Amino acid sequence: MRIKLKTMMQHWPEYRLAPVAPEEISLVTKDSRSTQPNALYVPIVGERLNGHLFAEEAVSNGAEVLFWQKEEPVPPTLQSVCSIFFVEDTTVALQQLAQLYRFQVNPFVIAITGSNGKTTVKDLVAGVCEKKGKTHKTAGNLNNHIGVPMTLLSMPDDCAFLIVEMGMNHAGEIEVLSKLAAPDMAIVTNVGESHIEFLGSRENIAKAKLEIAEGLKADGALLVDGDEPLLSHPAIQADGRIGFTDRASVRLRIEKTDLHGQNFVYRGESYSLALLGAHNSKNAAYAIEVGSRLGLSHEQIQAGLTQAAFTPMRMQLLTGPNEVTIINDAYNASPTSMRAALTVLKDMAHRSAKVAVLGDIFELGEPYDEEMHRSVGGEVTSPITALIAIGEKARWIAEETMLVTDGSVHVHHVKTKEEALELLRPFLHDDALLLFKASRGMALEWLIDQLMKE
Ligand code: ATP
Ligand code: MG
Repeated sequence: MRIKLKTMMQHWPEYRLAPVAPEEISLVTKDSRSTQPNALYVPIVGERLNGHLFAEEAVSNGAEVLFWQKEEPVPPTLQSVCSIFFVEDTTVALQQLAQLYRFQVNPFVIAITGSNGKTTVKDLVAGVCEKKGKTHKTAGNLNNHIGVPMTLLSMPDDCAFLIVEMGMNHAGEIEVLSKLAAPDMAIVTNVGESHIEFLGSRENIAKAKLEIAEGLKADGALLVDGDEPLLSHPAIQADGRIGFTDRASVRLRIEKTDLHGQNFVYRGESYSLALLGAHNSKNAAYAIEVGSRLGLSHEQIQAGLTQAAFTPMRMQLLTGPNEVTIINDAYNASPTSMRAALTVLKDMAHRSAKVAVLGDIFELGEPYDEEMHRSVGGEVTSPITALIAIGEKARWIAEETMLVTDGSVHVHHVKTKEEALELLRPFLHDDALLLFKASRGMALEWLIDQLMKE
């Protein structure tokens, strides 16, 4: 990346240049440890840490330019060694800088939000766009008010397509991100229950997701989950409603599913996808829709889907000791995504043991906590043969499963992953399929790592 200091001087007229100032910055960082000459260090003021306290370290590590919040005192050691731009708020300045760079490079921007599937859709859309031109995407899950500007600022100068994941906890957050990224296309993958504690209802969650249209270019296209009633209101001006049901304007149909993935038909063409779960076919359909709107051929789009680089721990298939099959979906969980994962477990080819290893789902809050865990528990039914529920809240999942299955599913509830490990050992054989899923805070991948060592 490259931004001229002259450009910054026009936008932030209160500055003090070092005697030898670089002509341009070539890196923006908020980490005082990873910086370099020509870098701009942005001291973010967070809840726990104030980045200004690390500015001297950033400068000794090479940073030559700083944003500086006006009310913060400037340490004497920094007075003449670096160039400083004084701003009201460093986070806002970071966002403004990102927007400035967005229009300087001016790629085709595709923004993605939704309760579930953002990262997967981002990876699939990027895979498809790669077939048309240089593509840059959100790294991992950096999807918030800092991650989004950092994503924009990390794109190369010659980027043609920028794929940005946008996440939120509260109303109003997506609007800010969308206005900042000014997308040419926007996608709402679905509406679930995540963060309902802050938003109050699914209706409010849908509204918050639709804020992605606020920054959309006037001639931009909005694609939404066509199966979601909350997104099907005629007042919502979607350019494509993609889904399985009659509600959708463009429909996909699954032809075949096995352990290697699935085949589905979309707009009369057949596609194959190496991901499990009907929800992932829909995720791929968003990417196909983007590809066809960009003028790519069926072959190019299929190649893009096949070559897409996925972020780990999302419906990832692994073969463990004694050929046991493991579905690692441990990255995160919401009630919607847990139900989707359970459907995959049930629909997969017959196994004598199908085990759901489920942990707590966080961030639901009262009064939803118990009800939502129970709703998941109600879905742990045959052909699933056993449930291992881990954690305080997962007790509700276990209780409900016990209630609805009447003993046909072996239910275990444990407090720790160590206890779960003991229970899992007998399932390490080639006729067993194990699904792992819980909120990020549970770090269930530890269990998978341990099993892989057996
Ligand atoms: P986060 O909010 O953590 O960033 P995300 O929206 O980026 O999540 P992914 O990481 O792509 O979502 O997927 C998380 C999980 O959600 C997956 O493991 C999968 O089980 C489930 N999932 C993905 N797409 C859908 C969908 N369209 N509907 C329901 N569940 C889905
Ligand atoms: Mg994500």
